[in-house]
Amino acid sequence: MDPVKPRLTVRDMCMAAVHAVRASWTADRRGVLTVVGLQLTTAVGLAGALLLLRGMVNDVMTSVDGSGTGVDLGRLIPGVIVLVALGAAGGILQMLSGVRQQILTDRVDRHVISLVLGTAAHTGLLEFEDPDFHDRLQRAVHASRRNPAMVVMMLVEMLQAALTVLAIAGVFITIAWWLLPLATLSALPLFKAAKDRRNAVYAMHHSLAENHRRRQYLEQLLTCRDEAKEIRALNLGATLHARWDTEYAQELTGMTRLIRTHAGREIRAKLLSSALILGVIASVWTLVNTGMVSLAAASTGLAGLWLLSSRIGSASQMLNSVGQTLYFFKDLHNFAAAGAEPPPALTEPASPFRTLRARGVTFTYPGAARPTLHGVDISLHQGEIIALVGANGSGKTTLAKILAGLYAPTGGTLVRDGDPATDLYQLRHGCAVVFQDFVRYKLTAHDNIAFGRIDDQPDDSRIGHAAEAAGVSALLESLPNGYHTVLGREFTDGTDLSGGQWQKLAIARAFYRDAPFVILDEPTAALDPQAEADLFARIRHLFAGRTVLLISHRFSSVRSADRIYVLDSGRVIEHGTHTELMRTQGRYAELFLTQAAGYLDAAPA
Ligand code: ADP
Repeated sequence: MDPVKPRLTVRDMCMAAVHAVRASWTADRRGVLTVVGLQLTTAVGLAGALLLLRGMVNDVMTSVDGSGTGVDLGRLIPGVIVLVALGAAGGILQMLSGVRQQILTDRVDRHVISLVLGTAAHTGLLEFEDPDFHDRLQRAVHASRRNPAMVVMMLVEMLQAALTVLAIAGVFITIAWWLLPLATLSALPLFKAAKDRRNAVYAMHHSLAENHRRRQYLEQLLTCRDEAKEIRALNLGATLHARWDTEYAQELTGMTRLIRTHAGREIRAKLLSSALILGVIASVWTLVNTGMVSLAAASTGLAGLWLLSSRIGSASQMLNSVGQTLYFFKDLHNFAAAGAEPPPALTEPASPFRTLRARGVTFTYPGAARPTLHGVDISLHQGEIIALVGANGSGKTTLAKILAGLYAPTGGTLVRDGDPATDLYQLRHGCAVVFQDFVRYKLTAHDNIAFGRIDDQPDDSRIGHAAEAAGVSALLESLPNGYHTVLGREFTDGTDLSGGQWQKLAIARAFYRDAPFVILDEPTAALDPQAEADLFARIRHLFAGRTVLLISHRFSSVRSADRIYVLDSGRVIEHGTHTELMRTQGRYAELFLTQAAGYLDAAPA
């Protein structure tokens, strides 16, 4: 939660409006020009109608005052026809403007959502570990889902209101200029109340961001297929639903209280404003009675005042909504502006390293009290299979992410062939990782493999080869649409795979990436013993010439590695070959013997 109450200055609002207009302009400049043109024409028509009305009233007044013969209604007919025609034309223009606004809105929506998605897609992995980032992301998503469309509509409406106010004010100056400052004064309380409400609503949204994310997470648990089986097995449905209800109730209670408080203030502001208008009317009445102002000027002036104050009133309401929307637009702009550059397209095949060293690598997660890795030193030589072992939470995955170029170390360096390796994109480019919680893309099997090397055109024969190497080709060929079968039951003609089959597919993706450095983080956890034994027997052959970092709890697989590093609480405590480590009788030997004893059903020696 933000400790500082967020506020928006006039400058912020202007900047946000500029960003909103710029986004609309980029998304659909023709639409913007059309809508603005239509609004302008409508406002000019309104000013014309007002002037015409004034002329007609004048006419009537003079004929009544002057000749005393009554009003010649026939003379008014052309004026009335023009007024009706202007009214009809204004209505049609408004309708056309509404239609075009709808299209404009859709285009701006798409543009802005794409901005948020583009930024999120290129944001560094570490940001995803930071709750603040998720708050910012959520506010940007909130802004992109609900508000950009409104920004355009409201800016256009504001423009129309401003033009109308200007048009009426222009006519005012020629009739009763002295009413203008009074009309403006009567609108001030409304503006002030609207501004207070805007600030309060924005602050409330800020403070509810995390609450909102929790609610959305609960919604996901209750509605997504992947979670459905466990939620049912544990009978969690009602409990999670109740929690969702509580989260939502908290949000609603806060919002309702705020809306009520500010509604009261706005009613008081409205009463004050009406009292001021009454005062103006009384003054005009006196002026007419004393003969200082003609009845024609006074009546047109008051009609204009009524129109003007109602327009200013609705403009202040609109400013309120625009202001709120602009607050979110500021969030959205800040989010997009802070976003990382898209990664460079590295099309050249990655060159292998001779050695990759971590020298005194330390790593602390954002907001964590203590480092996860402390001065880690490890060396990987080209063509070696290196195993990383250690208890859960000892830092194996974190170290793998650093070696893969997903996190930059917070202390120490990575050294590649003698040079500091600071270009994370280059490191990523030369690395294929299979995480233990790899992604199961609910797309085609073909996509699931081709995503391993997205910068190249997919090559079907290499995809088939990768699937074969991972031992999954026969299965994929047997699917209803072969490699083009969608792997998700939620989709028409989709199918699903077993955990082990998904894991093989993830390994196929790593093969297809064809990178010189391969990281396998628990790659066989979901495989049956036969498949696991097959894969390990073939790893040396399949990844020949590449460097492999293997994270595994299965010592039967680990023992055949060229060298083994043992991590404990973020530190390397032992390293060497299996034979050396067994001879040392340290932590590795202890873990190995415990596991072996488990298999042999006997206590360790
Ligand atoms: P391993 O792969 O050996 O099980 P990890 O590298 O996943 O270990 O985690 C090492 C330690 O880092 C754990 O104590 C874990 O709690 C901590 N950790 C992992 N991710 C985060 C995070 N996003 N923020 C803070 N601490 C984290």
